[in-house]
Amino acid sequence: MTTIKEATKKSMLDNVMQQFNKTADSIKLNPNIRKILSITNNEIILNFPVKMDNGEVQIFTGYRVQHNNALGPYKGGLRYHPTVDVDDAKALAMWMTWKTSLAGLPYGGAKGGIQIDPTAYSIGELERITRRFTYALGENIGPEHDIPAPDVNTNEQTMAWMADTFMSTKPSSERSRNQHVVTGKPVGSGGLEGRNRSTGYGVYLTIKLLYKSRGESLKGKKFIVQGFGNVGYWASHFLTQDGAILIAVQDAHATIVNQKGIAVAALFDYSKKRKGSVQGFSGAEEMDPKLFFGLACDILIPAALGNQITAENAYSVKADVIAEGANGPVDTDGEKIALENGITIIPDILCNSGGVIGSYFEWLQNRNGELWSLEEVMQKIDKKLTEVFYKVEGLVEEGEIDWRTAAYILAITRIETAYIQRGIFP
Ligand code: NAD
Repeated sequence: MTTIKEATKKSMLDNVMQQFNKTADSIKLNPNIRKILSITNNEIILNFPVKMDNGEVQIFTGYRVQHNNALGPYKGGLRYHPTVDVDDAKALAMWMTWKTSLAGLPYGGAKGGIQIDPTAYSIGELERITRRFTYALGENIGPEHDIPAPDVNTNEQTMAWMADTFMSTKPSSERSRNQHVVTGKPVGSGGLEGRNRSTGYGVYLTIKLLYKSRGESLKGKKFIVQGFGNVGYWASHFLTQDGAILIAVQDAHATIVNQKGIAVAALFDYSKKRKGSVQGFSGAEEMDPKLFFGLACDILIPAALGNQITAENAYSVKADVIAEGANGPVDTDGEKIALENGITIIPDILCNSGGVIGSYFEWLQNRNGELWSLEEVMQKIDKKLTEVFYKVEGLVEEGEIDWRTAAYILAITRIETAYIQRGIFP
């Protein structure tokens, strides 16, 4: 019998393949390149032992899937979540290939993680799990080969442990040349000012630019956010700074609503003290989670997990714009319904690409031994993402197509061009 979990998981990979095949058909992608991009280059599964606080040894399973590196080293996040498996990692790695290509970065795509619920472990255990996973990955990652970054339930601290472990396995004369093995590090340990907010900033910026093209501002626009972690929080922060109003938040613990507006900074402080949970926040009321996506609003930002807006609930969405902070939050069936209902979807590979653009600047900063201020970094991210946004918008208008199709065409064509120029070895 197929469980709901299996059905959902299957469709995540199906989703990315359907999106890819649709684009490949529409641009008549070179059939040989289509074969290459349809599969992942490497799928690494690692079982590794870690000593727990009680002295017992537990075996963990970690994944790293490297989809394609035609444009440069593999790049993509690591997540710690019970749903992580090889199929999830494959889908997410493919999305990374399209995202880095669309952004014009010198990277390919990868993704991975460990199949755990991190809340079940102490900080000491999480450190040992992370370090042992990094050690097990060995030369499968590296600053010029595959560069992980934070994702769901991993953060600056996780990246600091990874960088330190990887650097510790090198001779001391080579240590500093390996700092950019991961991005998203704390600023005091080679991280980039502003990297923590770069994904959320990008979500905000793409929404702002979309409304600007319509001759509208963000002032008074009502928005709802699923996931109040790194991406959801920072997107909310920047949107409310421009006068938009956050009216509802859903996280893994609760769904809260306040039509008059939720104070973003107060909610962030509150959730930080409660292991990231928004449950019980006094500035809003709890509501039925099933009704969340159907709330009347202008902008819906799914910023948690994949496959959240599907054929089951897409018909209920009232927003004008869905801005995909998460990777793959709207599946292909959900997208069809939303587009038929006149909703504009800013696709993940554009909407949340501020994160990998920020990571690129961190990598460059480490590589070149430079140090940039927060202001400089935000200007660089803004400039790069704005260029990409207008490129996609140009194609949307020229081809009278939806935003995801336009973004995919640009991303896949760039990789196709690189393969055609170079040929296939031998
Ligand atoms: P995070 O761990 O900081 O936050 C995740 C949030 O999602 C939390 O608020 C959690 O409670 C919530 N959540 C988890 N399961 C949920 C569920 N079933 N229903 C509702 N809410 C749920 O993660 P993040 O870094 O903010 O990443 C969020 C999404 O954005 C992911 O899809 C990730 O792949 C994507 N993304 C992240 C970055 C980045 O730089 N962190 C970059 C690009 C894309």
